[in-house]
Amino acid sequence: MNALTEVTRRHSVCPHDCPSVCALDVEVIGGKRIGRIHGAREQTYTSGVVCAKVARYWERIHHPDRLTQPFRRVGPKGSGQFEPIGWDEALDRVADNFLSVERELGPEGVWPYFYAGTMGLVMRDGIERLTHAKRYSRFHGTICVGVAWPGYVAGTGRLMGADPREMAKSDCVVIWGTNAVATQVNVMTHAIRARKERGAKIVAIDIYETETMRQADLALCVRPGTDGALACAVMHVLFRDGFADWGYLERYTDAPHELEAHVQARDPAWASAITGVSVAQIEELGALIGRSKRSFFRLGFGFSRQRNGAANMHAALCIPAVTGAWAHEGGGAFHNNSGVYKLQKTMIEGLDVRDLSVRRLDQSRVGAILTGEKEALKNGPPVRAMLIQNTNPLAVAPHQEKVRRGFSRDDLFTCVHEQFMTDTARYADIVLPATMFLEHDDLYTAGGHQHLQFAPKVVDPPDGCRSNHEVIAALAGRVGAEHPAFSMSPREIIDWTLRESGWGDLAKLERERWLDLQPPFEESHFLDGFGFPDGKFRFKADWTDAPVANDGMKGPWRAMPSLPDYWPVNEEVDEDHPFKLATSPARNFLNSSFTETATSRSREQRPEVLINPSDAAKLGVSQGDVVQLGNERGRTRLHARLFEGVKPGVLVSEGVWPPSAFLDGWGINVLVGDDSVAPHGGVAFHDVRVWARRL
Ligand code: SF4
Repeated sequence: MNALTEVTRRHSVCPHDCPSVCALDVEVIGGKRIGRIHGAREQTYTSGVVCAKVARYWERIHHPDRLTQPFRRVGPKGSGQFEPIGWDEALDRVADNFLSVERELGPEGVWPYFYAGTMGLVMRDGIERLTHAKRYSRFHGTICVGVAWPGYVAGTGRLMGADPREMAKSDCVVIWGTNAVATQVNVMTHAIRARKERGAKIVAIDIYETETMRQADLALCVRPGTDGALACAVMHVLFRDGFADWGYLERYTDAPHELEAHVQARDPAWASAITGVSVAQIEELGALIGRSKRSFFRLGFGFSRQRNGAANMHAALCIPAVTGAWAHEGGGAFHNNSGVYKLQKTMIEGLDVRDLSVRRLDQSRVGAILTGEKEALKNGPPVRAMLIQNTNPLAVAPHQEKVRRGFSRDDLFTCVHEQFMTDTARYADIVLPATMFLEHDDLYTAGGHQHLQFAPKVVDPPDGCRSNHEVIAALAGRVGAEHPAFSMSPREIIDWTLRESGWGDLAKLERERWLDLQPPFEESHFLDGFGFPDGKFRFKADWTDAPVANDGMKGPWRAMPSLPDYWPVNEEVDEDHPFKLATSPARNFLNSSFTETATSRSREQRPEVLINPSDAAKLGVSQGDVVQLGNERGRTRLHARLFEGVKPGVLVSEGVWPPSAFLDGWGINVLVGDDSVAPHGGVAFHDVRVWARRL
């Protein structure tokens, strides 16, 4: 073996938008190329396991289509006609346009836009520093967490929960509204350990037969958006059959007697009619949860992507409070651990120069904002210039027709800093090539566990690529933005952040790779009180109380139920729109990432819609036929896959495929609404009524 073929192992962290945030051991070949990526065995949540798409990351980082030089658009927007230019010229053009918009409309005419293409804090959130230093329009990130988090926090008061590794010590792991096998494989690692070592039962609740459902001991397939009804019926069974822990209820919850009376009328027969789940299965679930003091509710994001999603999340969360499962190791609930890190992010985000009077624009309403809807613009000036990092709104944002119309505006200047020529990059005026996670330093928190991790740069980027931090700092100098962190390196920013947060320093974190910040048992199980002044879990949600960051009340929040319930606010099918469509994740993609890699593409094959054979027969559709789906927002064509695992009347299309992969160039999000979901905004990606016809 010589220096060119020598394989070394380096540490890293997966940067993708996945709760697992795996600790990685990366094979580096000859100091330059990436080989196979492994899960770190010593990190107790990753536990040696990573998903296949990241294990073969060499396909992505060494992809021949990676952007490696800046481009200037020379054809119409969306045409893909660009010519190369130098970095200085590109940055000068961006800065000139931003300054010109600022002169004409004020700084709010510029809207820096980003999301979770990388979850590294410096590279993802550094753009906020530029926003705040310049008083550009602020960014409200709602597209993923906007609905789920308020639903969870409405019950617990804090965004944290039982140690997710405790799933392995549970007697009943309820995986609710997440296809963990496809989207966060590590949940299965711990759940299956509980089954092997303790004979625990795994329950999966979802809207179609996913791989996770197939691996479960009890799988309940609900109609989309009816989880609140199922939760109420389970609580009915628990109270009725003496499984409610009254000692716990009296001590730790706000209104247990009201809840008991409330769910008395919400029995399994009532829920069965709403959810489509049999009475027998609901009874079986209630009895299983009731008998298992150590029942662990792993609550995902999927079932929150409905107009009633926050109420559904809160309803499911109420169940372990009825049984008192929170009091036991291996019991309770977990959704997200963002509340445990308590990082001081002033240097990363420029919080010291933030002006809260500057308008904050909702990410999910990008189509409405760019097409000039006054309410979405908060009655302020139009957006005339954007810098986009780590996201691909032309593929992932709702109401795609509106989004595309907005990005097509001739008077909108757009700079996209990206790794590939995405759908959004095609509409840019300037495209800048970005580094990938193995090519820069960054710091990572995790939604799905509690480790704080550092990932050092492992290899040099291709010539021409620059990191998000470098671009932000270079632009700051050109537009007159001032903040000390623009002249700090990522390592210096991380070191400062760790010290100010009380988590040691970078040297310590780099030496140890990660810090396990799991709060003590009493705290994570809320035995020292839930996050409200009276310390009690709230069965009666106060939706105006907002312990997670929000931007005011949105959607029909006044009609939200306080006690857990089925809230019928979702899009209803009718004669013209007889199907409910869900846009679920694909196993080999992660949002729009990995749609460019050959293996992921070949495994997912093509955009398809899953349709029950009885519905297919009524429509005259056979396996592989082209089907058109449509509603008042738009229409798209894709191939049909007949599948018994979806209920009649329900359609599922997996994966955020690029619009160009569809037969007429419109992605699945052309059908999804961009109305704000109650109580604080977000998108109802799985709450879409459509018609379907064979073409
Ligand atoms: S995408 Fe998720 S499961 Fe896959 S390596 Fe990254 S964090 Fe782990």
